[in-house]
Amino acid sequence: MRLIPGILLVTSMPFSLTAGAFEVSAFPESKAEAIIKKIISTVGLKPNFEVEQSDIYDASATVIDGKRVIYYNPAFFDNLNQVTGSEWTSVSILAHEIGHHLNGHTLSGGEVSPAIELEADEFSGFVLNKMGA
Ligand SMILES: [Zn+2]
Repeated sequence: MRLIPGILLVTSMPFSLTAGAFEVSAFPESKAEAIIKKIISTVGLKPNFEVEQSDIYDASATVIDGKRVIYYNPAFFDNLNQVTGSEWTSVSILAHEIGHHLNGHTLSGGEVSPAIELEADEFSGFVLNKMGA
């Protein structure tokens, strides 16, 4: 977790892959939004997350002005897709970040613990199973 003044960032689990340079076109927001829409519809909710590219290492969930935001590094996600030959890892990370939002982790003042990360992972595993991963 990194703290930026006034903003809580709950980062996903660390990965050993190198994110590379920030590339706007590598994994467009429209792609991330489509994945998030599918994740949310799988669990029967209406999407109310904003998605923004960032030069952070991988991805994070935060609340800004009362809006749920998911930041992601498009180059990191593009690398993941190329290395794994699949989008499921990207879907898993975005689901993990959604899990932070849905479990209220982004509202709790910045607490980060293995238990919180496991809760986000549990949501990710649950929804990926429902999606047929
Ligand atoms: Zn996390």
